[in-house]
Amino acid sequence: MSAAQDGLPPLREVIAAHGLSARKSLGQNFLLDLNLTSKIARQVRALPDHDVLEIGPGPGGLTRGLLFEGARKVVAVERDHRCIPALQEVAAAYPGRLEVIEGDALEIDPLDHLSPPIAVAANLPYNIGTELLVRWLTPSDWPPFWSSLTLMFQREVAQRIVAKPGSKAYGRLSILAQWRTDAKIVLDLPPAAFTPPPKVSSAVVHLTALPEPRFEADADILNRVVAAAFGQRRKMLRAALKPLGVDPVALLDAAGIPPTARAETVSVEEFCRLSRTYAEMRGA
Ligand code: SAM
Repeated sequence: MSAAQDGLPPLREVIAAHGLSARKSLGQNFLLDLNLTSKIARQVRALPDHDVLEIGPGPGGLTRGLLFEGARKVVAVERDHRCIPALQEVAAAYPGRLEVIEGDALEIDPLDHLSPPIAVAANLPYNIGTELLVRWLTPSDWPPFWSSLTLMFQREVAQRIVAKPGSKAYGRLSILAQWRTDAKIVLDLPPAAFTPPPKVSSAVVHLTALPEPRFEADADILNRVVAAAFGQRRKMLRAALKPLGVDPVALLDAAGIPPTARAETVSVEEFCRLSRTYAEMRGA
């Protein structure tokens, strides 16, 4: 989509008209190129079949991309009240397809506003991005409310999500993501794509929820075991797992993992096995 194709003003004019100077405290780095926001929106795939939950729409660049590319319905949750009138103008240009919610993304229940299948799309505020991703990946029941997540992260965080065992980036996010989703980096963006430009490069990650997790495990327990293992990633697991409150060597032996292994070499399958063994030892 180029600037005028949706009949709305260019984003620079929207920002000037509504006084939307970017605020660092809200993680505001805006995308102003509508060709680019349309390109990101297309990564969501099958938009006409989905309701889309957008977190942090800001002045509405990605929102406009999602609507222009055919999203059935978009629910956009924005905390900055200054952005709401600009978003209402987008809603007026797409009657009945955009619901704007002023509020904190960490506090809303998406199913109060959207019907499945639901895709989540966001140029996330970096300060809450990882917290939201972990929350979306670790509900106790699976499949979750969403069928896909298309999310902008700092490139370094995106690399952690898709990293394989043995690499420096492999860690908690890799395991939680790859346990229950197919995760891919689909787009890289330089700092200059944003206004104001952040210090680091960004990337869009697309995660598709698997119908069932790859391996059996309880989400809370897996999260706890992985957090302990990577809490001290340079240590051998027999030392790193001490905070779990069971004999780490007995736990690792029972799970068939060498006590001298380090977290970054342990596969998702092995972490799931370790979690099941830990649950049994704790009598959970
Ligand atoms: N999507 C817009 C774009 O691509 O140009 C803005 C992206 S900006 C990186 C992040 C947006 O998230 C900001 O508009 C900010 O106000 C909003 N935001 C920050 N914390 C939020 C929260 N807890 N809930 C909802 N929105 C939030």
